[in-house]
Amino acid sequence: MENLSAESVDPISMLKRYDHLENEGHWQTVWADWGIHRFKSEDQTSPTYSIDTPPPYPSGEFHMGNALNWCYFDFAARYKRMRGFNVHFPQGWDCHGLPTEVRAETTYKVRKRDLAVAEFKDLCVRLTSEYIEKMKKAMKMMGYSIDWNLEYKTMDPNYYRLTQLSFILLFKSGYMYRGEHPVNWCPRCETAIAEAEVEYVESEGVLSYVRFRSEDGHLAIATTRPELLPACVAVAVNPQDERYGMYVGKWVDVPVFKRRVEILADEGVDPKFGTGVVMVCTFGDKTDVKWQKKYKLPIVKAISEDGHMTEEAGRYRGLTMKECQEATLNDLQREGLVEKSEKIKRNVGTCWRCHTPVEIISRLQWFMKTKDMTDEVVNWTNKITWVPEFAKHRMIDWATSLDWDWVVSRQRVFATPIPVWYCARCGEDIIAEKDWLPVDPRFEKPKVESCPKCGCQDLIGESDVMDTWMDSSITCAVHAGWPGNPESFKRLFPADLQPNGLDIIRTWDYYLMVRHLALFKQAPYKAMLINGMVRGADGRMMHKSYGNYVEATEAILKYGADSLRQWAAGGAATGQDIPFRWSDVEHARRFLTKLWNASRFAIANLREYDRATEEVELQVLDRWLLSRLEKVTKEVTEAFENFQFNVALESVRDFTWHVFCDQYLEAVKHRFYSSDMRDRSSRIGAEYVLYRSILRVLQLLAPICPHITESIYQLLKPSTESPRSIHLTPWPSVKKELIDEEVEKKGDVLVAVISEIRREKSKRQVSMRAPIKYLHIYAEQNERKMLDDSIETVKRTCNVGSVSIQPSDDLSLGTPVQEYANIRIRLEF
Ligand SMILES: [Zn+2]
Ligand SMILES: [Zn+2]
Repeated sequence: MENLSAESVDPISMLKRYDHLENEGHWQTVWADWGIHRFKSEDQTSPTYSIDTPPPYPSGEFHMGNALNWCYFDFAARYKRMRGFNVHFPQGWDCHGLPTEVRAETTYKVRKRDLAVAEFKDLCVRLTSEYIEKMKKAMKMMGYSIDWNLEYKTMDPNYYRLTQLSFILLFKSGYMYRGEHPVNWCPRCETAIAEAEVEYVESEGVLSYVRFRSEDGHLAIATTRPELLPACVAVAVNPQDERYGMYVGKWVDVPVFKRRVEILADEGVDPKFGTGVVMVCTFGDKTDVKWQKKYKLPIVKAISEDGHMTEEAGRYRGLTMKECQEATLNDLQREGLVEKSEKIKRNVGTCWRCHTPVEIISRLQWFMKTKDMTDEVVNWTNKITWVPEFAKHRMIDWATSLDWDWVVSRQRVFATPIPVWYCARCGEDIIAEKDWLPVDPRFEKPKVESCPKCGCQDLIGESDVMDTWMDSSITCAVHAGWPGNPESFKRLFPADLQPNGLDIIRTWDYYLMVRHLALFKQAPYKAMLINGMVRGADGRMMHKSYGNYVEATEAILKYGADSLRQWAAGGAATGQDIPFRWSDVEHARRFLTKLWNASRFAIANLREYDRATEEVELQVLDRWLLSRLEKVTKEVTEAFENFQFNVALESVRDFTWHVFCDQYLEAVKHRFYSSDMRDRSSRIGAEYVLYRSILRVLQLLAPICPHITESIYQLLKPSTESPRSIHLTPWPSVKKELIDEEVEKKGDVLVAVISEIRREKSKRQVSMRAPIKYLHIYAEQNERKMLDDSIETVKRTCNVGSVSIQPSDDLSLGTPVQEYANIRIRLEF
């Protein structure tokens, strides 16, 4: 199908069974040829609509969570294009990061430390490019209307030049600083990690009651981390705790280490935990960090960056933390200092990448001054539209809960270099100038000879690199054309829509916010669209290790992208978690088959109606359907405007399946079969309604099912002057004048009577086409009047010889029509 243009598709062959894969692949190629998803930068008149999507991490796999994410982006993009917007829908790749380093090591069977930095970096770039191609293929199979001309990769020098530029600007405006502060540290990944990357999990630990010798005897202190004894710099009690009032200000000896530390009183101590006396270690947790600062306690670094005990740990030096914990407990026990031990559950912070418990260590790092921005972040968050509304509170809760500034330096290889050198003599920071970028201080010298402060010529390049969120949190500005194209920046910044998953509000959305606020004093997005997470059929999160994992391409190959896209649209309300069930995808495909068959019927029967005219003679049922069609258009439009894709899909599906196919089509089929020339105007009326309704349904469905709607549109479109693609047709506006409540009431009664006759036939096990000699309808005056106009339709549709409509109070006559208890029918064969 590769090189076919749309015109070469043989309409007759397409009137057979609909082949999803063939059609979908075909249109994907044709759309690319036609360039219909391209952002038209030359178009200065249409309003723009820019969508800033989270660049995914290139893992090589496109899972259901990704599929759901991108479906939401694409529904919005396709809908807005039909609304006349010049849509800017780029695609990026967030390339850097530790997982790639780990995978490069296993894939190429190398060890990072055995290779030169540049050599290892090249392997990472190679692997990332392969992964990107795989994911791109799946994205194309899904039919996403991404403008691939706007693709970007954060590992490209062209991109990371801008990451570096933003770093320099933020340094100059005082937002970036270097300092020694405690940070979360993953001893396995051997890097600092931000608070957003710490995941808290409940785990079991042992709480040991350890005896500390004091001036007046001893104090028992409960701890889960005896390996931190060497870093114990004080103990603390609550000032209200009467048991310990007399100890405050006195000293205790740290067992094993025999170091003498003070007993402090602090409101933060929970008297109910353990014995009510706690160790202050540098650093066991964030409270320790606070107390160390507050009481100006010394910092003892007992744990090394790779998770081993340092020389501060004396006889335990070189042990892992776990080994040290066991050894310390043994020693304490031998000395009779452990009063008791009990199991407890506690929350432990772990690394989001490798799930190793994180430590808090102090080391020189680069930080962005984000903590002072909290009020600003909250204000802007409140100004933005959030769909659903509850997601906004995640952002606010997160921003207000942060204790520390954002640590932006990492101790890795595959990442954006920090554009800084240091003077070996005086320690002065030498920040790169804008025109040095991109630059890698790990290999390159600065473009100054010597330290501007002391003249020393020994300048050392920064070997730390940036957090990957530093790359991806300037995307809004970058796609808008910053900094080279101010004209475009004015049009495209801030982004109109920022769609992403619930799971990355505290990272992506938060970092985007602080970076752009700091750089441009403005929030980077106007509206947030948040999707929930995908769960497996068993209700658990979809995950490979749970055995409930399905790759998107597997579902596409089985049922077609348009079916999978319906699952994404209809699976749950926007923002709710969505279970992946094969039955939903199967149901979606059944719907497409129904639509295809109805369209086949319509197209085969559109013979007489001249598609240019609106002057046709319409019957009650025709006007009934047209009225319902306008109402469904209104519902679907409102749903898309509010990003309620499930409502949009259900409305159009319900209308198509039940109202259009089951009720209308069944009731008007006879108008196409008549050979009587006198019935010509009746036939033309039905053709007109068929044509209008199918075209409308295709338009309403096009953002969700772009392929099949295109296939049918090409067969249905009136002339060569019509828009080339369904996706280039303007979104239908609601024709209020066609909404007619009276006609709807009449049509509803008529449809109900026809359905009742069919039910009666099937109850009596006669064929639907079997002639009925006599149909008696018993009804009140009001209903009789409603039926009068359309009794001919009942006769024709149900193959009835004669009909009588009469008043009757005798409730024993006939069968009541569903939903209309005061209408009854009786059939004579
Ligand atoms: Zn880790
Ligand atoms: Zn110097």
